[in-house]
Amino acid sequence: MMTKATTLAKLRERPVTPGQHLIDGAWTDSVDGSTKEVISPIDGKVLTRIATGGEKDVDLAVRAARRSFESGAWSLMSPANRKNVLTRLADLIDLHKEELAVLGVRDNGTEFKMALKAEPGSAAGSFRYYGEAVDKIYGQIAPTAEESIGLISREPVGVVGAIVPWNFPLMIAAWKIAPALAAGNSVVLKPAQSASLSLLQLARLAMEAGIPKGVLNVVTGSGSVVGEALGVHPDVDVLAFTGSGVVGRRLLNYAAQSNLKRVHLELGGKSPNIVFADAPDIEAAVATAINGIFRNSGQVCTAGSRLLVQETIYEEFLEKVISGAEQLVVGDPLDAATDIGAVHTLDQLKNNLAYVETATAEGAVLRTGGKRIHESSGGYYMEPTIFSGVRPDMRIAQEEVFGPVLAVTSFTDEQEAIELANSTSYGLAAAVWTGDLSRAHRMIRRIKAGLIHVNCYGGSDITVPLGGMKQSGSGHDKSLLALDKYTEIKTAWISLNDGTN
Ligand code: NAP
Ligand code: MG
Repeated sequence: MMTKATTLAKLRERPVTPGQHLIDGAWTDSVDGSTKEVISPIDGKVLTRIATGGEKDVDLAVRAARRSFESGAWSLMSPANRKNVLTRLADLIDLHKEELAVLGVRDNGTEFKMALKAEPGSAAGSFRYYGEAVDKIYGQIAPTAEESIGLISREPVGVVGAIVPWNFPLMIAAWKIAPALAAGNSVVLKPAQSASLSLLQLARLAMEAGIPKGVLNVVTGSGSVVGEALGVHPDVDVLAFTGSGVVGRRLLNYAAQSNLKRVHLELGGKSPNIVFADAPDIEAAVATAINGIFRNSGQVCTAGSRLLVQETIYEEFLEKVISGAEQLVVGDPLDAATDIGAVHTLDQLKNNLAYVETATAEGAVLRTGGKRIHESSGGYYMEPTIFSGVRPDMRIAQEEVFGPVLAVTSFTDEQEAIELANSTSYGLAAAVWTGDLSRAHRMIRRIKAGLIHVNCYGGSDITVPLGGMKQSGSGHDKSLLALDKYTEIKTAWISLNDGTN
């Protein structure tokens, strides 16, 4: 159902209550009282303020999480009852989906059309999926000899620290919180400080759904303070992270310095979208190449930021992609006519523009875009930008921009396509467009990436895992495999000997 323009107009003007931490079931200010302005990328104006936590706030939240875990109020609740609470939360998210989506868009700038589906839509789906799953998963009995029995069971790990980014805060947080809670853990969540608001709202709904106090805690504030405090805390058992490789490395260090907590990293990508001349539907490949890089202004971890096109169709294909990109409407993310919303922050925009300069200096050809637009709105908007003639040694081919910038390269044959595809330190996603079934399977086998699309890009659902190879990370979000991150495996070896031999 389409959201009415009047609903959007009302929600976008709604005053936003200042954000506090949720610790042990209570909304609290930081121990030292500090707060920070929240700026909207739509117009550069102040939306509200949020609490900026410190070490003490993190410690209070971790203690509350530990107490709730040890109390068994959630960890020992029957799976069927945990299911009821989590599916009730899914229903509440659905009920408030427009409010959640608009609040999130005012905070992070994603075009509303996409945010509605990707944010509350995915979050509700995750809570429902893991809630439904939790009373359907069994342990195992090992094939031992007659005199023994080996029971293999799963237990919750304990206290999970979840650190998430700003690009899809609700979706990514739900990919972590939902399986962690379903498995019986307690959680301390640290949102990105530039996109905390919809997650505070989610926490409110979680309380309403009946998550016991202390089981879900949220501490807002900066990565370098709140994130680090969570990372080095001796009583956090697991860190589940989505973000950049730079911060991912820090988390591994925090774990090494402290209690060897498990660290699961979902990092960035420089994903190749590979189009062979025998693609079954060239027009679909064009439209998908455009959407695959420009949605959410390129701020998508799996964005198809490298377009590799077979030489024989290269110029013709590229022209179509350029003309499609030039037709995209960039603007106010809450306007129904908008295709692409705002870049998340001024810093991110400057970073994108710096990559335009570097790519040009390195000899890539700027075919369209490259500039900031709508500056008078006060917001952060950038034209969809396309570079052709990109060589694999250029920074634009190797480094994640995390902006609306597409790097296009041609290849001659399958072998070269594979070499180009695998020529970065990342291995998150890829796509292959071909009508040749055997070629598609060869590419699936030889491309080093956690997610390979064939004749499509994006849109994989909760039933399949998402995780990176190489420097795109370790561990998986989504699917039943995600439960591995939040459970311990325990073996019980039992003697059946009756003492007669
Ligand atoms: P980021 O800078 O790594 O930040 C991610 C989170 O880490 C934020 O909550 C941030 O807090 C926190 N953080 C920053 N410094 C920290 C520190 N020293 N210790 C602990 N935590 C710290 O990444 P981002 O720029 O927000 O997000 C973009 C990146 O995420 C891209 O690389 C993208 O590819 C990746 N990503 C990956 C996936 C995936 O599933 N693989 C999905 C989406 C995004 P503050 O921001 O509040 O300071
Ligand atoms: Mg923000």
